[in-house]
Amino acid sequence: MQPRNDWTREEIQHLYEQPFLDLLFQAQQVHRAHFQPNQIQVSTLLSIKTGKCPEDCKYCSQSAHYDSQLEAERRITVEKVVQEAQIAKASGSSRFCMGAAWRNPHERDMPYVLEMVKEVKALGLETCMTLGMLNASQAERLKDAGLDYYNHNLDTSREYYSHIISTRSFDDRLNTLDHVRQAGLKVCSGGIVGLGENQQDRIGLLHELSTLPIHPESVPINMLVPIAGTPLAELERLDVTEWIRTIAVARILMPNSYIRLSAGRESLSDSDQALAFMAGANSLFSGEKLLTTPNAGAGQDQRLFKKLGLQVEKARPSISQLGIDAMA
Ligand code: SF4
Repeated sequence: MQPRNDWTREEIQHLYEQPFLDLLFQAQQVHRAHFQPNQIQVSTLLSIKTGKCPEDCKYCSQSAHYDSQLEAERRITVEKVVQEAQIAKASGSSRFCMGAAWRNPHERDMPYVLEMVKEVKALGLETCMTLGMLNASQAERLKDAGLDYYNHNLDTSREYYSHIISTRSFDDRLNTLDHVRQAGLKVCSGGIVGLGENQQDRIGLLHELSTLPIHPESVPINMLVPIAGTPLAELERLDVTEWIRTIAVARILMPNSYIRLSAGRESLSDSDQALAFMAGANSLFSGEKLLTTPNAGAGQDQRLFKKLGLQVEKARPSISQLGIDAMA
């Protein structure tokens, strides 16, 4: 059955507000109908250019607008990226995500990122990048270089967006997602909870994601990690059940998408993470750091997977690695 993309806000609100255990049960049923229930996809995220970002995302340590004490780093070399990708592969990751703190890549950056995609792809890993806004030609060139996924989060609801970011608009985000889709790339797009938004905003975010013409293949649901020096540093922590509700509703609305636990996971207990998996999360970032925020390390994850009996999904070979001409 084709996943629906005509969800109404009322339907989503109804799903979101049902008793917690009913919601979890429903989400787990949807999950089992679409995925191997005990399998988890693991990605690794590497920052290829850190800090001094001209954007003003209020949650981000990398924004040049705030004094988060983050040490900015220039672009790292392609050789270093390839080394990190090899380590990620050896520790079980099937996808390698490369992120740069840019508003958008400049033309002078394109040869650098294109070479990186080719080299990481040649290791047999799926590739993902998050570089900010893209124009149509940049998206096409990334696709031609072998990029599999492009990450571009909607962050929050359309209504709340301007409270969090003023240097770009919600429609700018949607335009980039459109270029990414038109180029034939897979989409990774989700948001962050705990930004001071209300429940209607979480429902609004889920509504935007689940009514895109094609659902994102990957939907990261982050929990704010408050960073000293940023405007959201002192925000009261959102109750973890609201995060798990958001994950569960995402699973029901987008049954074929991988729902990913991202930032904020390192502050969760094993049992909270198990609840998130029960709610339908089936993907996560592994590694000591998520760009600049702390994350559960690979060893900690292996221990948790063993405890819960979760199997790590293997990278699927691409068409070119199977020796068949690309059809897309
Ligand atoms: S979230 Fe991305 S775009 Fe926003 S300030 Fe941080 S690095 Fe820049």
